[in-house]
Amino acid sequence: MLKVGILGGGQLGRMLLQAAKPYEVQTHVLENDPECPAAPLCDYFTLGDIRNFDDVYAFGKSLDCITIEIEQVNIEALEKLAGEGVVVIPEPRVLRLIKNKIAQKAYYQEHQIPTADFVITQTQNDLLQHIPFLPAVHKIGEGGYDGKGVQVIKDATELSKGFDAPAVLERMVPIKKELAVMVAINQKKETAVYPLVEMCFDPTLNLLDYQLCPAQVDPSIATHATQIALQVVQEFRSPGLFAVEMFLDQQDQLLVNETAPRVHNSGHHSIEAIDSSQFDMLWRILLSLPLGSTRMRNPSVMINLVGSGVTGTAHYHGMAQVASTEGLTVHLYEKKISKPGRKMGHMTLLGSDMQHLQEQARELKKSVSVSGSSER
Ligand code: ADP
Repeated sequence: MLKVGILGGGQLGRMLLQAAKPYEVQTHVLENDPECPAAPLCDYFTLGDIRNFDDVYAFGKSLDCITIEIEQVNIEALEKLAGEGVVVIPEPRVLRLIKNKIAQKAYYQEHQIPTADFVITQTQNDLLQHIPFLPAVHKIGEGGYDGKGVQVIKDATELSKGFDAPAVLERMVPIKKELAVMVAINQKKETAVYPLVEMCFDPTLNLLDYQLCPAQVDPSIATHATQIALQVVQEFRSPGLFAVEMFLDQQDQLLVNETAPRVHNSGHHSIEAIDSSQFDMLWRILLSLPLGSTRMRNPSVMINLVGSGVTGTAHYHGMAQVASTEGLTVHLYEKKISKPGRKMGHMTLLGSDMQHLQEQARELKKSVSVSGSSER
């Protein structure tokens, strides 16, 4: 039986493990929180730091294959493991490229992949040379996630908001829609592409608010987005599952924002809405099995359940009220502590009419919530 390790034990690792059931595989997780969402579901849990060379190397050296559920991992250890014959998916070279926003933008530019214009800055002071480039978005090269590490700089009075570290200053895109395409590529270089999805963000938390599949765009835009995503992924020359995030601007131009080299929040609907979910598909890639079908079963809307109120023991509200909603599946991540903005679960609603699905999503958002309380 193949031994497969996952670096990181959050909700993505948890849902990946939930999808392992049909396969003959022994699962291992490395994570420094023994109460993490993936811990109860893996065969073997190792306590350790995914950013630490020794921890990752010791974890990986007896495995056949290793993958990630978060980018902030020790890449040097993965390189050493790959050199010793452990199959690392995606390849460490691609993780290194994607982990750094400067390298990632340079990659798009080099491969003529449409992306917002940008300049590179090393210090906050460098921004002074780029005042004509404003308004722009400053993105720290390494270490940012979920909007942390991203600052809008409207004009010269806001330069102090910029990062005093290597970063990308990207032209502000007049965004009409945010879209994503999930692409699977296996060890034989075969590909499978998921239907285009549309993401609607919560402007205050900068977190995905809800996601629609299929995206409500002209079919020619969907075709073009798919072509761009395939190009991005094929040029990586690495097996893996990738989420290519794009902006559609007011002129209907598509621009690649960034690529996630792993299962992704924009693909959660695939558990119910697509024949082979993003998690099932990743197992097929890891275990060298034929790719699954990306046929859409039903249009869907996916809503994130994020913590509100204060940090504390998680309490769920309104669950019973929505329990009998036709087409609804609720996923909770078993996180004991709720924090404002923390992803605690998600809901996927299947339907047929997109307009109606969006109205229902708004109602569901009002009915269901998660909050923290200080009582134990
Ligand atoms: P993160 O990797 O932290 O999620 P992103 O690069 O995806 O950061 O940026 C977070 C959000 O900021 C995007 O989803 C988008 O709404 C907004 N954003 C990012 N880049 C631009 C840009 N060039 N123009 C306008 N908005 C942007």
